[in-house]
Amino acid sequence: MDIRDRYAPSPTGLQHIGGVRTALFNYLFARSQQGKFILRLEDTDRTRFDPAFVQNLYDTFAWLGLRWDEGPDTGGPFAPYIQSERFELYRKYAAELVAKDKAYYCFCSAERIEQIRKEREEAHSSESGYDRHCRSVPPGEAQRRADAGEPHTIRLKIPLGEKTRFTDKLLGEIEWKNDDISPDPVLLKSDGFPTYHLANIVDDHLMGISHVLRAQEWLPSTPLHVILYAAFGWEHPEFCHLPMVMGSDGKKLSKRHGATSVDEFRRQGYLPEALINYVALLGASYEEGKDLYTLEELAARFSLDKLNKAPAIFDYKKLEWYNGQYIRMKSDDELAALALPYAVSAGLFGEPEKAPTAEQRNSFTVAMPLVKERASFLHEIPEKLGYLFSEPAIPAAEEFIPKKANLAEAIRLLQIGRDLVTPMSNANDEDAEVLIKAKAEDAGVKLGDLMMPLRVAITGARVSPPLFGSLRILGADRALARVDRALVGMRKLSASPTLPADPPIP
Ligand code: GLU
Ligand code: ZN
Repeated sequence: MDIRDRYAPSPTGLQHIGGVRTALFNYLFARSQQGKFILRLEDTDRTRFDPAFVQNLYDTFAWLGLRWDEGPDTGGPFAPYIQSERFELYRKYAAELVAKDKAYYCFCSAERIEQIRKEREEAHSSESGYDRHCRSVPPGEAQRRADAGEPHTIRLKIPLGEKTRFTDKLLGEIEWKNDDISPDPVLLKSDGFPTYHLANIVDDHLMGISHVLRAQEWLPSTPLHVILYAAFGWEHPEFCHLPMVMGSDGKKLSKRHGATSVDEFRRQGYLPEALINYVALLGASYEEGKDLYTLEELAARFSLDKLNKAPAIFDYKKLEWYNGQYIRMKSDDELAALALPYAVSAGLFGEPEKAPTAEQRNSFTVAMPLVKERASFLHEIPEKLGYLFSEPAIPAAEEFIPKKANLAEAIRLLQIGRDLVTPMSNANDEDAEVLIKAKAEDAGVKLGDLMMPLRVAITGARVSPPLFGSLRILGADRALARVDRALVGMRKLSASPTLPADPPIP
């Protein structure tokens, strides 16, 4: 059997994590079976359609690096892959069901349907949906009325008093009483547009879809789909309803939990590899003890029996960990290119939106090793590197004072450190370390106490990216100017008569 599956989004919103998970699992399943993965746009709901959402779909999957084998933009043997371009087809198939007495014309007005709903509500009736009023109109009469132009919908004639069964690849045997299925749902609306159910089944059949992998929220529609396939006399595809994706509180993942649209993740500085890797684990397990997978590795390992029945919890912290891992795997050039847009918009190179000079661009790349090990998000990279591109504010004097020392001692330490600035700016990490260690020993001070005021003077903060690398990128002249600026401020303060007494050295 040819394995063919599909992602069939309705472009009525931005692509979100749930959709990406569905698409990714279909992609991986097709790849793992040497099958084909198809994109089909289910744009039958014209009131909620927006071309911007179609663009967002294309942008999202281009960014994620997930490609379909057949689709609206790629073409393929079953084109068109956009339902709004296939409306004639659905009309034809709906008429065929009426001719086979598997569906019927319903002439009820929207007002009448609303009326029944209201009456039942007032009577607290347990019944809901359509009352099957037109099911008993004799077919000949119904056909005449329809031909005469009387407005109508086409409804599926659900066989009553029976049960519908199918096997879900993950959930096993599913059995549903037909009487519990929405009573005779509309297949074709009065404007001639199909509903989701009709278009989805016709297309899955015509496009040779062998497996339907979709979110579990579609499970209640499946008995209806099985009935519809039978009405046509078609074999239905295999169904596999994927585990739900929940937030940490066990509720369905939503905006309350954090970003859900891929756009948001992208803006927040997530890498596509991290998102793919993490989403691939939402409801599936691959190899014990292995966390990091490329798309190829996932495709090689994916199978339906690796799916979990239990709902998947979307853990933002875990995703953050993945993002950090993928940031560390980038080369300096790659990472600089990825982080550059964030740096530009954050104004790292002077003012917001200002592009870097060639020299700044170069420093930015050279600075990547200083942040690579610590950043979890791309936007953190410019945040950590601000001091390399503009003069940091001079911190308050106490920031320079190591534990158990006083201002005078801090001045002395910084003065000693100053002598190292030029040689360390020209040395690699190892040599710089040798230099500063020797100096600390000579001066009889602790290494940490010697480094601390120097770090604060150079980077503007006690916690910063590595000092040696920072010195190299800044160069001796700029670094010395910062130390001198700090020394001037500290000396002024120590000469001030209003200075509170230094704490005694214990
Ligand atoms: N158009 C439906 C959606 O928006 C497709 C559901 C299915 O996969 O059958 O998810
Ligand atoms: Zn009716």
